[in-house]
Amino acid sequence: MNKKNQWIKVAFAFIICTVSTSLQAQKEYPKPGQMKPDMSEFWTPQPPVVTPGDIRTFSAPSDAIVLFDGKDLSAWENTKGEPADWTVKGGVFTVKKSAGDIRTKQKFENFQLHIEWQIPENITGSSQARGNSGIFLQGMYEIQVLDNYQNETYANGQAGSVYKQATPLANAMRKPGEWNVYDIIYSAPVFKEDGTYRIPPRVTLIQNGIVLQNNTTILGTTEYIGFPRVVKHGAGPIILQSHGDPSEPISFRNIWIREL
Ligand code: MG
Repeated sequence: MNKKNQWIKVAFAFIICTVSTSLQAQKEYPKPGQMKPDMSEFWTPQPPVVTPGDIRTFSAPSDAIVLFDGKDLSAWENTKGEPADWTVKGGVFTVKKSAGDIRTKQKFENFQLHIEWQIPENITGSSQARGNSGIFLQGMYEIQVLDNYQNETYANGQAGSVYKQATPLANAMRKPGEWNVYDIIYSAPVFKEDGTYRIPPRVTLIQNGIVLQNNTTILGTTEYIGFPRVVKHGAGPIILQSHGDPSEPISFRNIWIREL
């Protein structure tokens, strides 16, 4: 091939290449359809209608399981499965220390729990020995109940703590003789085959309208001595603690729970 022919060939290849590139640039592809507002609105399933309780009394909403309505402890039993023997009087019930802990007969997984508690006006004692009780979630994890109105104790053991694990974000105590309100939102753990957490339990706690625990991860059992242990479990009861401290027993009222 002579030099002239070679140049013609190169020029021809260049032209072909340029034409095909410009043809490609002009190729039309489909464009996304025009978005309309209703394309990102879904109507089903609709959330269920729940009638709110009276905001002044925090009465149970329509879909709640009532655990104490002021009349009796029929929803509760002692830890041997016998009738709960705490004292019911005047629409409230009071811890009977000699009778031990009580627990709900029903077991729960994920829930929203409303519970009100009162430290007696004549309470005595200090630190942990002053109106100590507790609410055990799924029978395993204690949310501390204690009189911390002008009563200091170790921070991770005061009212609203995940006992010895998570200090509450605030001290929201009302003074003895007044009623405290806990609203607890709890997510049960999911376990691996080997008994460790795949998803650990989590808790949000509001006392008297103030957030004390904000989606706090629970590390394991709430031990008095030692560190949290991970123990595989399923659905569990709400346990109320009969604490051995010598101070005057505390009272509860208006307890209801919503399974989530
Ligand atoms: Mg306690």
